[in-house]
Amino acid sequence: MTKTKQIQHILDELFPDPSIPLEHTDPYTLLIAVLLSAQCTDARVNLVTPVLFARACTPEEMVKLSVEEITTLIRTCGLSNTKAKAIWNLSKILIDKHHGKVPASFSHLEQLPGVGHKTASVVMSQAFHQPAFPVDTHIHRCAKRWGLSSGKSVEQTEKDLKSLFPKKSWNKLHLQIIYFARKYCPAKGHDPQKCPICKIL
Ligand code: SF4
Repeated sequence: MTKTKQIQHILDELFPDPSIPLEHTDPYTLLIAVLLSAQCTDARVNLVTPVLFARACTPEEMVKLSVEEITTLIRTCGLSNTKAKAIWNLSKILIDKHHGKVPASFSHLEQLPGVGHKTASVVMSQAFHQPAFPVDTHIHRCAKRWGLSSGKSVEQTEKDLKSLFPKKSWNKLHLQIIYFARKYCPAKGHDPQKCPICKIL
């Protein structure tokens, strides 16, 4: 069995049905949650979003809040002023240019304030079920440690993983690697003897 097949096999056994970590009810609430998750834990975002979405869970409701009000509601996520401005501005653009809907398009998503390629990839994958491979710090680390990529940049890692794994597996695989990395493959203090993956590679 090839290395990539072995890795997929182990991940399928450990995480057969990985759930989406950020709580949301539709593409808009997922987009906002992903934006908030920059330099913040998913657990923290999941504490903040119910309070924010109780006040505003659509672009139309969001622009009725002031940037200051949004900042206060999301304060514990960090970078709150920058994120609040991006949330307000992107909500306005969704209303003005996209009929109040999140566009299912990489190029349109990446034109929104606060939305880079990784955020767009998460939304395309998790909200619209389009093939994407969002590479976060966990996936970047694992791909390098598993010898699947040079680890030079997240862009290179995304390219390498996309060429190694079948397109139909990308959406599930990116979640499986994140869950694996959080549990077994921390940035510091990993234990190769106990690790289900490196011990067989
Ligand atoms: S031994 Fe396990 S924890 Fe360490 S790099 Fe390999 S997969 Fe990650």
